[in-house]
Amino acid sequence: MARGPVPGKAWYVIRDFVHEVAPARVIFGSGSLDRVPDEIAALDLHRVLIIAGGSASAPGQRLERQLAPRVAGRFPEVAQHVPEQLVHQAVAMATDTGADGLCSIGGGSATGLAKALAALLELPVVAVPTTYAGSEATSVYGITGERKRTATDARVRPRTVIYDPALTTGLPARETATSGFNAVAHATAALCGPAYEPAARLYAGEAIRTIARALPVAVRAPDDLDARGDLLWAAWLAGSALAATGTGLHHRLCHVLGGGFGLVHAEIHAALLAHTVAADQTLATGPVAHALGADEATTGLRDLARRTGAPDSLAAIGMPADRLDAAARLAADMIGGHDQAWFRGLLDRAHSDTTERTPS
Ligand code: NAD
Repeated sequence: MARGPVPGKAWYVIRDFVHEVAPARVIFGSGSLDRVPDEIAALDLHRVLIIAGGSASAPGQRLERQLAPRVAGRFPEVAQHVPEQLVHQAVAMATDTGADGLCSIGGGSATGLAKALAALLELPVVAVPTTYAGSEATSVYGITGERKRTATDARVRPRTVIYDPALTTGLPARETATSGFNAVAHATAALCGPAYEPAARLYAGEAIRTIARALPVAVRAPDDLDARGDLLWAAWLAGSALAATGTGLHHRLCHVLGGGFGLVHAEIHAALLAHTVAADQTLATGPVAHALGADEATTGLRDLARRTGAPDSLAAIGMPADRLDAAARLAADMIGGHDQAWFRGLLDRAHSDTTERTPS
């Protein structure tokens, strides 16, 4: 399978592929939160449940006022990994208020709750993302009870996505850095994973190049709207690329650790990515190294972590060493493809911060 320059030719050749893009309307621009009411009207929605809590409470309240006659209410709580309990409460509110659509403002937690409701109630979603998680571009959603379960359903993918860089200047430096790594992880899966989709690779390469340039700037200068805009653009590219190709070992391991050990989703991406890239033999990592401007993908990822202050080991994000065995067992059980000892080796390296290649 040709993945690099073809011997004897100075260019890449296109191999057989399938390209399928779900329709989505994307509005991008500083101040574009004010365009939500028009977009809601264009979708002919009359009773919209706004999902906006925590850091998105203020824009959520503002939208509630702007949208007044078309608002069913505002659900003010969101949480990582979409806890089942929260889904029940939000379903009750959407049902009681007769909601005919959903509008989420916030990071992947808000988008994720809206997508879970969309799956259960068959309601359209308008998403206003404020991190680089990229969930707004995919048809994947998750709900966490005893374990985190994910599913794919084209109906949950937001119909309209509104990117407003001005909403993201308050994202703290650590969350900015780790969320940026979440997007890099999406792009890495699309750029060098076994699924081949050349348009997605184009998106993914551009996403990584943009993040490598803009992420250190946004961490240093959170109010830099150009850097914030570039990062939202990259998040959309990376999420769209992932939607076209699907995830791999890295993402599955992030879900196992996030759902089972209470770690923060974006932090797990930052902590694990260089280690999973070193261990996953199905990846052809040259294009990622190239996009990062490094000799090796792992070196480039570690350098990006150093320049942005992102945590780059499981120890740095609070994973206790005495839970690694349980995590390896769960990973072998839920992901498969390798035994518990292999996952333990990978997790040990990720915990102690070395990117030596895990034996296959
Ligand atoms: P998040 O939405 O929980 O946000 C992280 C933190 O940043 C929160 O404290 C939030 O209040 C704060 N925050 C968000 N935007 C802010 C802003 N603009 N200013 C100030 N603070 C802000 O976390 P996340 O990393 O965006 O999303 C994680 C969730 O998304 C996980 O549940 C993950 O599984 C899911 N996810 C799903 C997909 C998918 O395709 N289904 C993709 C990526 C992530």
